[in-house]
Amino acid sequence: MPVRTAVATLLLALVASAPRAAPAAPLSPPAEQALAREILAELIAMPTTARTGTTAAAEVLAARFRAAGFADGDVVLAGPTPGKQNLFVRLRGTTRQPAVGYLTHLDVVEALPEAWSVEPFTLTERDGWFYGRGTLDTKNSSAVLAATLIRLKREGFVPRTDIVAAFTADEENGGPENGVFWLLEHRRDLLDVAYVVNLDGSGILRERGEKTRLGIAVAEKIYATYALTVTSPGGHSSRPGADNAIYRLAAALGRLERHAFPVRLNEGSRAMLAEAARREGGALADDLRALLDGRADEALVARLSQNPYLNAVMRTTCVATMLQAGHAENALPMRAKATVQCRLAPDEDVAGMPAALAAVAADPRVEVSVAFAPLEAPISPLDPQVLEAAEAVAAQMWPGLPVMATMNTANTDSSLLRWGGIPAYDFNGFAVDVEDNRAHGRDERIEVASFYEGLEFQYRFMRALSQ
Ligand SMILES: [Zn+2]
Repeated sequence: MPVRTAVATLLLALVASAPRAAPAAPLSPPAEQALAREILAELIAMPTTARTGTTAAAEVLAARFRAAGFADGDVVLAGPTPGKQNLFVRLRGTTRQPAVGYLTHLDVVEALPEAWSVEPFTLTERDGWFYGRGTLDTKNSSAVLAATLIRLKREGFVPRTDIVAAFTADEENGGPENGVFWLLEHRRDLLDVAYVVNLDGSGILRERGEKTRLGIAVAEKIYATYALTVTSPGGHSSRPGADNAIYRLAAALGRLERHAFPVRLNEGSRAMLAEAARREGGALADDLRALLDGRADEALVARLSQNPYLNAVMRTTCVATMLQAGHAENALPMRAKATVQCRLAPDEDVAGMPAALAAVAADPRVEVSVAFAPLEAPISPLDPQVLEAAEAVAAQMWPGLPVMATMNTANTDSSLLRWGGIPAYDFNGFAVDVEDNRAHGRDERIEVASFYEGLEFQYRFMRALSQ
């Protein structure tokens, strides 16, 4: 019997006898799984917080790569401080065309052991889950990327173009010691890649236990913070006059609260809204389709904007987050200041934002200044080869799972890469539960099965993209 018929018969038998459970995804050989788990345990045991740094972890991985046969010159440590080194590994290809980059970060956010039910800096397996700081963000990615490079090397795999993998420092902390920022400023030569696949961030979304999509983030909203300040002459509180900094600022903030920035859609946000329409159905789906078809009126947009998730996907948002005003209980205020936090659409007119906020405030006495300067990070148009490879592997592993461009409403190092002129795509093969995402939180965990599926996805994807 031809193999295909045999498989089809077997599948029919399974379908007939079992309730509709998703078929198990193919997994890596046990030895490869054991290696990935060993590296994960090793990395989790190193508390690579901003305080401790990443160098020890970078050195451990470097030793593994050298032992696996990578030449000394293809394993490079470089970074802003002795304690915060990034690690680079190059798998040489057959052509001199620009390399494909892969990125993950080695650092993690702090974890308070007393708040956890397990030891955060020890890998613990319990009830089908791996627990430990970084199991989801993102030592899972680092372990899987390292194990895959070692496997490819051992198998003698030679990609079409070089593969450059970066394991970086200080992603969580931001600032000048961020590994990617430092590289862009000081060692741009190490990032000589056509684009970067960033394993941090989104992967497969799972809702109510079911995988709903593999998202490839092609854009991120831009983080920007502004200050709105009003000054007034002040005086004794027994003789209030018309000019009061607090009232003026409050009125301006009221106008900001009622203001909605224009709807601004891109490749990623369009796909996310289309998916929301598919998932939700009903009147909401009709509204979303009308918006996507350019048939939305003001009332319809206002309806959709009631939903904070859809609102964040649809447009730039700005919200007051802090207030400081006055200097004494019995004195008229001389100064009132509000902090306004914005998440700009990726193609927003960044330079024009202070003027846009001043127009919303609609009071020439309200002074708008930049408190945290945004980094312009343009959308990375989805490379068709990346999409095709991801679709092909997803179809093998999770038949029927949609693969789509998305926009990340939060931030990863991809924003820095895009700011530095390098297209970036964020995705991986790990499933994350929408209802219970513990990245940065207590008892961070990843499902054991999902970790190993992510490992096999990474291996198949890197091969598919490089052939
Ligand atoms: Zn992360």
